[in-house]
Amino acid sequence: MGFGLARPVQFARLMLVAPRPDRQEPSWTLEERCPNDVGLRRVVRAGYAALRARLDADGRTLPPFVHREMEQYLACGDLGAGFAWLACPHGHHHRLVPTTCKGRGFCPTCGGRRMAERAGRWIDELLPRVAVRQVVFTVPWPRRWLLARDAGLLREVVETMRSEVTRWLRRHGVRGLDGREGEPGSVSVIQRFGSTLNLNVHVHMLVLDGLFVADARCAPVWRRARRWRQADVDGLVVRVAAEVERLLARRGHGPNEPLELDPDDALADLQEAAVAGRSASSNRRAQRVQRVGGRERPLPPLCASCDGYTVHAGVVFGARARAGIGRLAQYVLRPALVTSRLEVLGDDSVRLALKRAWSDGTTSRTFTALELVERLAALVPPPAANQVVYGGVLAPRHRWHRLVRPSPRRVAVPRVATVRLTRRPRGTSRHVGWAELLWRTFGVFGAACPTCGAVMRLRAVAWPPATLDVLASLRRSARGPPPGNAASGA
Ligand SMILES: [Zn+2]
Ligand SMILES: [Zn+2]
Repeated sequence: MGFGLARPVQFARLMLVAPRPDRQEPSWTLEERCPNDVGLRRVVRAGYAALRARLDADGRTLPPFVHREMEQYLACGDLGAGFAWLACPHGHHHRLVPTTCKGRGFCPTCGGRRMAERAGRWIDELLPRVAVRQVVFTVPWPRRWLLARDAGLLREVVETMRSEVTRWLRRHGVRGLDGREGEPGSVSVIQRFGSTLNLNVHVHMLVLDGLFVADARCAPVWRRARRWRQADVDGLVVRVAAEVERLLARRGHGPNEPLELDPDDALADLQEAAVAGRSASSNRRAQRVQRVGGRERPLPPLCASCDGYTVHAGVVFGARARAGIGRLAQYVLRPALVTSRLEVLGDDSVRLALKRAWSDGTTSRTFTALELVERLAALVPPPAANQVVYGGVLAPRHRWHRLVRPSPRRVAVPRVATVRLTRRPRGTSRHVGWAELLWRTFGVFGAACPTCGAVMRLRAVAWPPATLDVLASLRRSARGPPPGNAASGA
């Protein structure tokens, strides 16, 4: 690619031409954070400062990737930290789009955008038009801590879970005409969070509910699995518990392995507390984070547990329920933090509403700023840890991958709308280079003018300090482009 953030286009060189007097004044949109988002960032900023002060006092530190994630989150969506300037080619409208952090840990904005983009791509380009079942695996809590810290081991555990599901499907499936066993397909999403932002490493697997077998010409034909029964899930969880423990023992983690916390590793400490659902360093240390009560909920069917492992396989959608499968994809890809379920309280604490009441009646939890940031820090995945694993025919290298996936459908561009969630632009031309930059840095691909519907063009990319001058100038004048000297600092 011929661009990079290291060499942004100089803002001043692409300064706006003065509007022609015979034209109407253009309208402006400044994409700014919503009030809830602003409140959350204020709390995170306060909590992060408190956490750093606490760690400094103890002479401890967090790994650089956690600090990076925090700092980038705090600048995410801030027009002052950088923006793209889009303009209608006919001069009707201008739009400033802030840079985003693309954080993989907890940023609700970037996580929500990634969820929508990926789920859309799965439906359009990945998941064949067959039945899809969700199988959720959880592990005992000392194992959660271990797996949160070791991405390679976690990957092996996911492979073990996947092969147990495949084994079940093959045992109940038919062979192909080539004499070979059928081929499964799955996509596994590693989620690191539980319902109260506790560190709960678990796996959501979308499994094609059957197998592809070879026909007379060795082409794949779909065979649906027989209906799952409770006994199947009971058997599966026993196998998974045994096989995963066997794997962990082979890797040197015996069944009663004590947690050995390195006294210098502050992140290990935070993660241990976040797994147990308590606060690590506030003065409510060793207390569970406050909960607020309510009612009970029953256990779901097709759910079973064994030695602290659980398997839940009760959610399934038929081949025609593509909308349901799309919602399921969004659910498994959802971010840890959803701003609509958060309420920022007056004293900079945050109340998190649970999606479902717990069996002990808990309906929400309240975190101080420090407690919240401790939890968020524990959720940040180690660098280069894959959160999504494609298996069987859904893996790009599988010989049937291209044959089973749905034929790509052209995404219609709405006339008057922001086209945020279309597939990633590809290509090598200069123009596409810019489109890709916009996509990567701002999460925007092709924005339409609200007046004429034309695709808006990138006019400039601004970084501080030019951003601050431009924004100040825009806010002074209720409308119209900023004066020419506004960007002299670029
Ligand atoms: Zn972000
Ligand atoms: Zn226009």
